[in-house]
Amino acid sequence: DPRIGGIAASIRVVPDFPKKGIMFQDITTLLLDPKAFKNTVDLFVERYIGKDVSVVAGIEARGFIFGPPIALAIGAKFIPLRKPRKLPGEVISEKYVLEYGTDCLEMHVGAVQPGDRALVVDDLIATGGTLCAAMNLLERAGAEVVECACVIELPELKGREKLNGKPLYVLVESR
Ligand code: 5GP
Repeated sequence: DPRIGGIAASIRVVPDFPKKGIMFQDITTLLLDPKAFKNTVDLFVERYIGKDVSVVAGIEARGFIFGPPIALAIGAKFIPLRKPRKLPGEVISEKYVLEYGTDCLEMHVGAVQPGDRALVVDDLIATGGTLCAAMNLLERAGAEVVECACVIELPELKGREKLNGKPLYVLVESR
C-alpha cells in the first residue's frame, strides 16, 4: 500500500532510550503528521470494518491513541487494558515477564461479555509478552480474540511466535 512509506518515515528512532542499546521507535512524530496518523487509522479501519469486531482493546499507553479512533469507525466498544491499580472497578489481572522483572495488565470485570469478538491494539510488538497478556485477559473473560494489530513490529525479537498462532497485523517492520 502506498500509504505505508509515509507512515514508516514519520516514526522517529531514538537511540539509547530508555536505556543504552535500545533503539526506541517513537510514534509521537507520527502523531505530528496528520496525514500519516489518518492513514494509520484508515488502514486498520479498512481491515476490520465488516469483520464483526465488537470490542477494541487498547493497551496502556499508546494503544489508547490508536485504539479509540478505530473503535469509533468500526462501531465497536473500546476498553482500556491498564497498568496495575489504575482502574477503579473490580478487575482481573494478568502478569507477564519482562527483560528484568514482571509487569501486569488489568481489565475491568464486565467490560467484555462471552461471545464478544475482540481486536487488540498497541503501537508496537517487541517480545510479544504484552500482547499475550492482553489476549489472556480477554479470553479469560470469554471473548474471542480475532486478531492483534500494531503499527510497528520488531521482527528480530520473534514476538509473533509467542502469540500461539493468533494472527498479528502490522503496518511497519523495523530493525
Ligand atoms: P513486548 O511486550 O512485545 O516486549 O513490548 C511491547 C510493549 O512495549 C508495547 O506496549 C510497546 O508500547 C512497548 N515498547 C517496547 N519497545 C518500544 C519501542 O521501541 N517503541 C515504542 N513506542 N514502544 C515500545
